[in-house]
Amino acid sequence: MALSSLLRPALRSGLKSPPFRKRPRARSLHLAPPWLLDDYIPRYHLLSSLDAAKKRSLAYAHLRECNLCPRLCGVNRYKETGVCLIGAEKVKVNTIAPHFGEEPCLQGHNGSGSVFFSGCNLRCVFCQNHDIAHQRNGFDLTPEELAEWYMKLQEVGRCHNINLVTPEHVVPQVVLSILHARELGLRLPIVYNTSSFDSLESLALLDGLVDIYLPDFKVWSDKTSKRLLKADNYTATAMESIKAMHAQVGDLCFTADGIAKKGVLVRHLVMPGKEDEGKEIVRWLAENVSKDMMVHVMEQYFPRAHVGKPRRGGKDAEVIEPGGVPATGDAKTPVRYVDINRPVDLKEVASVMQAAKEAGLWRFIEPARHGGFNM
Ligand code: SF4
Repeated sequence: MALSSLLRPALRSGLKSPPFRKRPRARSLHLAPPWLLDDYIPRYHLLSSLDAAKKRSLAYAHLRECNLCPRLCGVNRYKETGVCLIGAEKVKVNTIAPHFGEEPCLQGHNGSGSVFFSGCNLRCVFCQNHDIAHQRNGFDLTPEELAEWYMKLQEVGRCHNINLVTPEHVVPQVVLSILHARELGLRLPIVYNTSSFDSLESLALLDGLVDIYLPDFKVWSDKTSKRLLKADNYTATAMESIKAMHAQVGDLCFTADGIAKKGVLVRHLVMPGKEDEGKEIVRWLAENVSKDMMVHVMEQYFPRAHVGKPRRGGKDAEVIEPGGVPATGDAKTPVRYVDINRPVDLKEVASVMQAAKEAGLWRFIEPARHGGFNM
């Protein structure tokens, strides 16, 4: 009933106070209004058809001269490939499925509708998705076919979002797929799950299409990024990218069901012996982006990819087994990247968390003690 019709009889009868009935208490989500949304319409539905057409033609233009990531290959991807090894017409996808390995506010009860792209523009020696990102396994899909998969994740999987994992090198195709999916009736928020090795041109192309940015901030020092990510300018790029993402969508917001709908959620995977880099990263986020930034300080690092593989010798080869087990007797084998060839210590994770709190950050993804979602 409209408020005016509720008030009218009381006003006619000369009562000073209208007869309000006591409202049932709203469920408390411990969330301040700026981060609690009544409802949510994905940003791609708010785009005018003119802006959508502009995005389409920009996507094709970028593919003809690709400078979409800081590798700046400048190649025509219709004719050749750059560092990422992926062409123009199709993307290579390893897995598409509801995924339950994401943050509770993304996976909810039905899972995050994840699309794991093959290939990557980084070459992290410790890559936790090595078999997908470095080996170009999977099947080829056009943007239109990709859009049809988004619809299956929505209609059949009942997923809470479309989660594009490692998409930095296929942004034009992703843009075309989202624009096609909106015509097909997609209603789910788009999650851009990135290493943060993105160019500003690429993020500008995504503006208006992505609802949630899920960037990693991996390492702080240039020496570490050169050695472990095989990228010279990772840290400066990640800073610039995360600022641009935050300028687009702000801090992470939720609807009352506890599912994230819009904003930035930064992940930092704490690495063995590198907690000082983690501390610099969380301080930088607090001081330069937002103290209300939602942050996930991750503890699941494990030696993978090239870490712990046998090496042929060299002066800094040390004798430790893959996985960090001390080598004994005949089993002794010199291995690569011995300094990160162990799981992370929980004390290292705790010290990064402590630095984050001291810097003023307060919104963290932590294991839910109450058995529900974290907000
Ligand atoms: S997206 Fe691929 S081709 Fe384009 S600049 Fe990056 S690595 Fe090179």
